[in-house]
Amino acid sequence: MRDPLDSDIQYVKGIGQRRAELLKKELGIVKTGDLLYHFPSHYLDRRNITKIRDLVGEEISSVQLQGHFLSMVKHGEGAKTRLIGLFTDGTATIEVVWFKKIKDLTRIYQLGKDYIIYGGAKRFNQHWSMVHPEIDVPESATAVQGMRSVYPLTDKLRKAGITSRTILSWIKNILDSIPAISEVLPEQIIRNRHLYSRDKALRAVHFPVDHSQYTRARERMKYEELFFLELNILRYSKKRNRELAGYRFSVIGQYFNNFYHNFLPFPLTDAQKRVLKEIRLNVNTGRHMNRLLQGDVGSGKTIVALLTMLMALDNGYQACLMAPTEILASQHYDTIRDLVARCGVSVALLTGSTKTKERDDIHSRLQSGELKILIGTHALLEDVVKFSNLGLAIIDEQHRFGVVQRSKIWSKNLGKVLPHVLVMTATPIPRTLAMTVYGDLDVSVIDKLPPGRKPVNTLLRYEENRQQIYRAVGEQLRKGRQVYIVYPLIEESEKLDLKSLEEGFETIKDTFPSFKVAMVHGRMKQAEKDYQMKRFVEGEAHILVATTVIEVGVNVPNASTMIIENAERFGLSQLHQLRGRVGRGAEQSYCILMSKYQIAKETRQRLEIMTSTTDGFIVAEADLKMRGPGDIEGTLQSGIPFNLKIASLASDGQIIQIAREDASGILDEDPELSLPINKNLLEELIKRNPKEIDFSRIS
Ligand code: ADP
Ligand code: MG
Repeated sequence: MRDPLDSDIQYVKGIGQRRAELLKKELGIVKTGDLLYHFPSHYLDRRNITKIRDLVGEEISSVQLQGHFLSMVKHGEGAKTRLIGLFTDGTATIEVVWFKKIKDLTRIYQLGKDYIIYGGAKRFNQHWSMVHPEIDVPESATAVQGMRSVYPLTDKLRKAGITSRTILSWIKNILDSIPAISEVLPEQIIRNRHLYSRDKALRAVHFPVDHSQYTRARERMKYEELFFLELNILRYSKKRNRELAGYRFSVIGQYFNNFYHNFLPFPLTDAQKRVLKEIRLNVNTGRHMNRLLQGDVGSGKTIVALLTMLMALDNGYQACLMAPTEILASQHYDTIRDLVARCGVSVALLTGSTKTKERDDIHSRLQSGELKILIGTHALLEDVVKFSNLGLAIIDEQHRFGVVQRSKIWSKNLGKVLPHVLVMTATPIPRTLAMTVYGDLDVSVIDKLPPGRKPVNTLLRYEENRQQIYRAVGEQLRKGRQVYIVYPLIEESEKLDLKSLEEGFETIKDTFPSFKVAMVHGRMKQAEKDYQMKRFVEGEAHILVATTVIEVGVNVPNASTMIIENAERFGLSQLHQLRGRVGRGAEQSYCILMSKYQIAKETRQRLEIMTSTTDGFIVAEADLKMRGPGDIEGTLQSGIPFNLKIASLASDGQIIQIAREDASGILDEDPELSLPINKNLLEELIKRNPKEIDFSRIS
């Protein structure tokens, strides 16, 4: 039988061909089902009728009144013409004012007739007035008593005379013509999760009687949307996991054990141990590992990376670690070389500035297999770089690399099995969201910082506090600590930004004459940048005045203070990344957010999140909520169109979680959805996702 939701929208009572075309063009609505899945953006509470006498205050955003017009009189001339109707419900009067379409109104509305009017009310002196209210005859179909759905529209639709109420009346016509809308979710899920049926939910989402009803209706529709999304992603990723072979690192051997028992510089945290176990299990299955390692700045990802590389070495493979900048790559190189200095592990660094002779040497040692660990930048991706047996590729700070670059690593082992991939990021996003956004990536999380860290003390300060701040900075400097001073990235207002950076640089030099100041910004030549940065990293310079180029990964444990100028111009995640540069040593550290005194409320809230927590996950979630998931959805790694109509990746984490669990459970029992019991499910899934996901595009 044909699903009534599949029928053409133009045959719905009141629509017709011309409007159907408009709906298609403006909202992509083609079938009746599409219109039912065009969800309200919000609801107006039209349950109560207020007495005019009971209006209080100066301004009311929306109120519903019932009564009749005593008079309608035109005032003014030309552009100032307005129509004023005096409306009463017997308790008092209110002026109803129109500025537009005045001519028609006196024809449409009659004096003495009973109307319900709805709109915002304002009080001038002793008199209330309401501008351009919605007006209904009480017994008409559109005079909904209860919650009134409001729909997203476009300008073109509005111009064509289509209002929220028009949409509502069409939806009503559709719902009235369908006795029962069929279910698409498995019965068992409906029962277990206490969900509304699709029929009930679709009716209630458009015509709810109260708040709790539309909340439950929306919950059900969100669940449905996310369930099919997860089912689709998991269908392919599980298949990929089943079928994509990977190297088997079956032994933990000499390299790992020797380092672990004799050279580990500190006991691992429980979180680090747990993550290593997850990785160990993963690389021992014979299937390909494609794992995201999330851990806040300073949580200790590097040691996990090293230990994972040693697992590869123990099984006769090489490993590489790629970082987004030269500074970061060389820091990793220094750290790792020092750590394994007495373990007989060969390590090399390859970046854009590696000298030709050394480069050639690295290339040949890589190909012969003598070189075991290669650390570097994008230079690793060049075609000339060939491994003899690459078993593991680790990528640090993945948000700096594009998908294409990551997948390029695969080609390093042409004709052989893909190396395992571990992607490390310090920009945490909630776990389930990460799994959804990154398609089939598995996710590990280091959720605890190493012991003994003092949380960075973060303060919000203004221009008038500057002298006081500089005094505190002076104290830190005299104690031998180093200081970062960060300016917004030089961009749109380039000249201005550069000027304020350079002025800042001069001021700082004048204020702290006995200390050395380095400066880096993105418009410097790379060599100059590296040189200045190095001065600071090596302690030769005490203060670093910089733009956000220092954001990623730089490790100077002696730096105890960071001042962020114009903090209001930074995003939350960025502020958090920046702050992560301090608090790396044993000393109490400070991060001072300098801001204008007058900032928007949201901006202040954003900055206050920074002062209230140092937990990267909380910051990330807040960021996601404030910014919306747009960025994430926009840069979908998997290339899966998310096109969510009702659910939000940012705020529906819990629903994503259960939808994913349920979808996963079904696929575990029936991977191809070929059992008769899942026939409808498969049909619905294909209907919603006609194209296959191409996971070969993901690292
Ligand atoms: P990130 O996750 O930001 O890359 P790092 O790996 O650079 O963090 O680690 C930050 C600092 O913490 C380093 O100085 C590192 O030596 C130290 N560290 C890492 N793990 C531990 C641990 N288990 N105990 C004590 N210090 C640790
Ligand atoms: Mg790091």
